[in-house]
Amino acid sequence: MKNLAILGSTGSIGVSTLEIVAAFPQRYRVTALTAGNNLTLLEEQIRRFRPRCVAVLTEASAERLRRSLGPDAPQILCCVEGLITCASHPEVDIVVSAIVGAAGLVPTMAAIEAGKDVALANKETLVTAGPLVMEAVARRGVRLFPVDSEHSAIFQSLEGHRHGDVRRLILTASGGPFRNRSLAELRNVTAPEALAHPNWNMGRKISIDSATMMNKGLEVIEARWLFDLEADRIAVHIHPQSIVHSMVEYVDGSVIAQLGIPDMKMPIAYALSYPERLPLDLPPLDLCALSTLSFEAPDLSRFACLGLAYRALRTGGTAPAVLNAANEIAVEAFLNGEISFLDIPAVIGEVLEGHAAQPLAYIDDVLRADRAARTSTRRLIDRNSPSEGS
Ligand code: NAD
Ligand code: MG
Repeated sequence: MKNLAILGSTGSIGVSTLEIVAAFPQRYRVTALTAGNNLTLLEEQIRRFRPRCVAVLTEASAERLRRSLGPDAPQILCCVEGLITCASHPEVDIVVSAIVGAAGLVPTMAAIEAGKDVALANKETLVTAGPLVMEAVARRGVRLFPVDSEHSAIFQSLEGHRHGDVRRLILTASGGPFRNRSLAELRNVTAPEALAHPNWNMGRKISIDSATMMNKGLEVIEARWLFDLEADRIAVHIHPQSIVHSMVEYVDGSVIAQLGIPDMKMPIAYALSYPERLPLDLPPLDLCALSTLSFEAPDLSRFACLGLAYRALRTGGTAPAVLNAANEIAVEAFLNGEISFLDIPAVIGEVLEGHAAQPLAYIDDVLRADRAARTSTRRLIDRNSPSEGS
């Protein structure tokens, strides 16, 4: 029996994780749940899975939950301290890190420092603080299992092989909803169009990141730290069918790939059950029905975010944290109708340009760079947006 803490239980990954827990009750027990919003769903999850510990964003939400659950209420905490308590709960064996954005960093680090294995969906943890996170993983002797489908595919394609034999990693990308749009067409795309991903059903932020291809850029950075390979050994191929989840090319030219239908339950289950595989109740992959798997090179002139991510990775230090923070603010502004789709890379590029990267020694260095980048991105957006009535 494994005891789980699920950080971000009301999100897309959190809900899929709980479906796996529900399907394998003899293997998994929920010890802790945390959520940022959607208290109604969180309350349902608490009643069904009976965690010992819960954390929400504010004391007001915690109080509302306590009142609503009455004598059935578990320990209900709030704020970052609450997240940390859940992530490092003494009974927890593995922490599913599925908060969205840089907010996932501190609780994920707390889990690692507490000696917990981590099933990592929150790629922003490795994007913003990769070297510090991997140092802590090694020092504490814990396992970091990738949940991101590309990284799970690479993890699986590396099994039984020698790290020294790897030539490069090839991350696949669906290309998102705008794969075939021209630059001129991209100028006017709307948030609802950008949210409609062709293959995957995901949270709002990662859906926009997929449309701009920043998601792939963040995944390149994630792969750099997870698999200890430099940027020039991590390639991206557009693969619109999302069947080949990623590949490893070896020095003899052999390429090993992992394939499957696009369903996040597969990589989540593997992260939870490694090295075993769970008999999941999913439709099989029918390659004959698909008939075509195609691949093409990404176009960085239309999807500039991918190039920005490579640039931040090569700069190193605080640059990826700044890239990530600027992206979070720009995506939010796009969703609020404050900036256009093509403003997203423009804004991030300008913020990166103005940032003098510093080396990373402590998590505080990351948090400071993150805060400063959020402020300068917000300022840039406010300065450029026409004021009311003008
Ligand atoms: P989501 O928006 O659906 O859910 C996010 C969860 O985090 C929710 O429970 C939300 O309440 C919580 N949350 C949001 N802001 C918070 C904050 N400031 N503090 C605490 N909790 C907060 O997101 P998602 O699509 O499930 O993605 C979660 C993470 O997994 C992201 O890092 C994403 O990049 C990664 N990921 C997602 C998918 C996918 O298919 N959805 C695939 C690969 C990787
Ligand atoms: Mg992915």
